[in-house]
Amino acid sequence: MGGLKITDVSFSYGAKTALNGVSFEVKPGQFCALLGPNGAGKSTLFALLTRLFTTRQGQITVAGADLARQPRVALAQIGVVFQQSTLDLDLSVRRNLRYFAALHGLSGAQAEVRILAALERLDMAERADERARDLNGGHRRRAEIARALIHDPAVLLLDEPTVGLDAASRRAITNHVHDLAQQTGKTVLWATHLTDEVQDSDQLVVLHRGQILANDSCATVRGDRPLADDFLLRTGAAT
Ligand code: ADP
Repeated sequence: MGGLKITDVSFSYGAKTALNGVSFEVKPGQFCALLGPNGAGKSTLFALLTRLFTTRQGQITVAGADLARQPRVALAQIGVVFQQSTLDLDLSVRRNLRYFAALHGLSGAQAEVRILAALERLDMAERADERARDLNGGHRRRAEIARALIHDPAVLLLDEPTVGLDAASRRAITNHVHDLAQQTGKTVLWATHLTDEVQDSDQLVVLHRGQILANDSCATVRGDRPLADDFLLRTGAAT
């Protein structure tokens, strides 16, 4: 029941179709990479998944709850890391997380336990009392991922979480989130346009101009070609 199911979802900005009949399912414990070039529709899909936008075309189910009919139940099962950082830079990591915990109705000892567990999972416990402003980009991102885990959601959504980070930070964060899916059974949807963040055992959904071009294990989609070439060929970006 902990997965994410998207069925025949479409969305338009006026006359501009951004998503056209998108369907795919991500099972619990699966890391799903949503790969697509700029303009593919990734951010639009994330906006629909977080109910920033709504659509009457199609259905989204989060951990068994219909997002349109039971929005509060469904949203309570979502942890989200947006592309733009939303940390309060003047607060410590711990206080950023406390504030978020309070928004979810968690306080006192229960909140502290959750905060510590989330920070430990991201290898960030020793930075709990540093000001967000003093952290490097990779550590800020990790703090945000930890924050998204505090209410113990079944589904974690990350919209291009490694944008602007150096190679070592990108690798560390990609590995942390892969481990998270595997070890905790959370469902992960990771939007990216970077093919090297995708591992063989991942589910790979290729989105292009609002439509799904492929949905299978990364190893299957890739075949014996390097993923980057395959991706570029499929999306026509190579020509
Ligand atoms: P991605 O996140 O994959 O780069 P987007 O979801 O941002 O893709 O965009 C999908 C399509 O919708 C693109 O063609 C983009 O130009 C268009 N689009 C995005 N936002 C708007 C908007 N506010 N108004 C009109 N068109 C938009």
